[in-house]
Amino acid sequence: MPTKSVHPDLVISECNILDWLFPDEASISETPVWIDASDSSHSLSPKQLVGWVKRFGLGLQQMGFTTGDSALIFSYNHIFIPVAYLSTVCLGVAFSGASPAFTVAELAHQIRTVNPKIVYVHPTLAKTAIAAMKEVGLPLDRLYLASDTPCEETDGLKDWRSIQASEQDARHWRWPAFTKEQSRKIVGTINFSSGTTGLPKGVAVSHFNLISNVSQIQSIYNYAKDETWLGFLPLYHAYGQCYAVLIATKNNIPITIMKQFNLEQYLRLIEEKRPTRLQAVPPILVMLDKRPEVAKYDLSSVKEILCGAAPLSRELHHAIENKLNVRVTQGWGMSETTCAGTGVPYHKEPITGSVGLLLPNTVVKLVDDAGKEVKLGERGELLVQGPQVALGYWGNKKATDETFVDGWLTTGDIAIMNAEGYIWIVDRIKELIKVNALQVSPAELEAVLIENPNIDDAAVVGITLNDEERPRAYITLAESARGKITEAQVQEWIKSKVAKHKWLAGGVVLVPEIPKLASGKIQRKVMRQWAKRDAEII
Ligand code: AMP
Repeated sequence: MPTKSVHPDLVISECNILDWLFPDEASISETPVWIDASDSSHSLSPKQLVGWVKRFGLGLQQMGFTTGDSALIFSYNHIFIPVAYLSTVCLGVAFSGASPAFTVAELAHQIRTVNPKIVYVHPTLAKTAIAAMKEVGLPLDRLYLASDTPCEETDGLKDWRSIQASEQDARHWRWPAFTKEQSRKIVGTINFSSGTTGLPKGVAVSHFNLISNVSQIQSIYNYAKDETWLGFLPLYHAYGQCYAVLIATKNNIPITIMKQFNLEQYLRLIEEKRPTRLQAVPPILVMLDKRPEVAKYDLSSVKEILCGAAPLSRELHHAIENKLNVRVTQGWGMSETTCAGTGVPYHKEPITGSVGLLLPNTVVKLVDDAGKEVKLGERGELLVQGPQVALGYWGNKKATDETFVDGWLTTGDIAIMNAEGYIWIVDRIKELIKVNALQVSPAELEAVLIENPNIDDAAVVGITLNDEERPRAYITLAESARGKITEAQVQEWIKSKVAKHKWLAGGVVLVPEIPKLASGKIQRKVMRQWAKRDAEII
C-alpha cells in the first residue's frame, strides 16, 4: 500500500501564483525583503517589487508575450531576479534560470531546450550569451542586459529597463487571472535536471505546483516574525527560487541576497544579520565544520540549519550539531517535485540521517527492481505522488513518459521508511552525480569526451572520496592516440568545455573497453562497482 503523509491535507489554491502571493494590493508590505549583501541600503520591498513586476509585466504583454512563451535569465544572484521571475511568470510565461558558470555550449543546450522568446543576461556574462545565441540561431534582438543597476549598452544590447511600461499605465494594470485548469496547466518555471537518465532537461513546473510546494513547506516550518535569511543559494535552482523568491515573498521574510557563495562574507553576514535559521547544502556544512575562519565569527544566533539537495553524512550532521549547538534537519526534494518532498516539522525531533517526513498531501511507495512494493524498513526506489510533482519535461514527451509513469514520479533515489513515516535516502540508482549539491549529468560529460577525436568511448560515474561525490571518467582511446594522450590532456579538454563543478575531479582512467549491454547502453551498475572498488584503493 502506498504511504500517505502523516500530516492533515492542505487545501491548495488553484490560481495565478501572483494572485496567491499578492491577493490584496493595498496591504503589500513596504519593508525591505530583498537586501543586497554588498550594500544593504540597496533593497526592494514587496511594494516596490510589485511596482516593478507590473511595469515589466505590462511591458512584456505589450510586446506580445503570453501564456506558453518562455524567458531565460543567465545571471548571478541579485535583488532584481525576483522581479524578472515574477514579471514573466505573472503572464503565464515560463521562467528558466541558467547557471552563471555555464560555458557557451552548456548555455546553448539550455537555450535550445527552452527556446526562449527573451533572454536576460547579466552584463558581465554578455559575451557567453551572445555566442550561445549565435550557436543556437536565436536572433540577438531577444537579448537584454539585466542587472540591479541600470546597464550601459554593450554590443548594441538593450537595457531590460527599456521593456517596462510607464508607472502610470502599470498602476491600474493587473496580471491575468487563471482558471483552476490554467493554474494546473500553465508552466511557471523550467529548472534543469537530468532526471534518472540522459542530458539535462527542463522540468515544467505549473503555477499550482509552485503554490502547492510553498504551502506544504511553510506548513511544517512555523516561521517566526523576526526571521531573517541569507540568500546564497543560486536563483537558477529550485531550492533558491522557492526560498528566496516565493517563501520570502509570501511570509515577508527579509533575505540578504549574495551574488554567489563566499565563506567569509557568509560568516560575516551571519554575525551581522543574526539569522536564527539557515537553509544550506552539505558542502556548506563541511566548511562550517572544517574551515578555521569559522572560529573568528559569532554564529550564536543560529538555532536551526536545514540541509538539502544532496546526502548529508551522519558524522557531519553530528559534528555540526555539537560544534554550533544547533538543530540540524534534512529535507529531500528534486527539481521534479518543484523543490521539496520531505522535511522535519518544527514540533518533531530530527533523527540523524533521516530526511524527515513526507510533506502534507504527498504519497510515496517504495518498490524493488521489478516494481513490486517492498516491506516497511526495506530498501526500495522512491516513487512520489503529490500536488508538487511537476507536469513533465518541457518539450520532451519521451523523457516525460519514462519518468512520470502511471501518475508516479520515478525518483531514482533508494530509500527506507520506518513505521512513523521517517525516510532515509540510502542510495541513488539514477545516473546523476551531485557535486557541491549541483547536478552533473554523466551523459553530458560522456558526449563532451567523445567529441574529442582521440577518445573512442567514455563512461562517467560518481566516485565518493572523503564523503564528497566527484565525476570520474573511464575512457578508451582511438588507436592513433594510444600512448600519446595523457590524463592531464583529457582533463584540459573537459575544463575547456564545461562549468567547474563538472570537471573530472574524481579522475580519468584509461581502460581497454567500456562495459556495454547488447543494446549498446553503458552498464551503469558495473561502472558504479568500478568506482566503489577504486574509491577503496585511492
Ligand atoms: P535537484 O533536482 O538538483 O534538486 O536534485 C535532486 C536529487 O538530489 C535527488 O533526486 C537526490 O538524489 C538528491 N537529494 C536531494 N536532497 C537530498 C537529501 N536530503 N539526501 C540525499 N539526496 C538528496
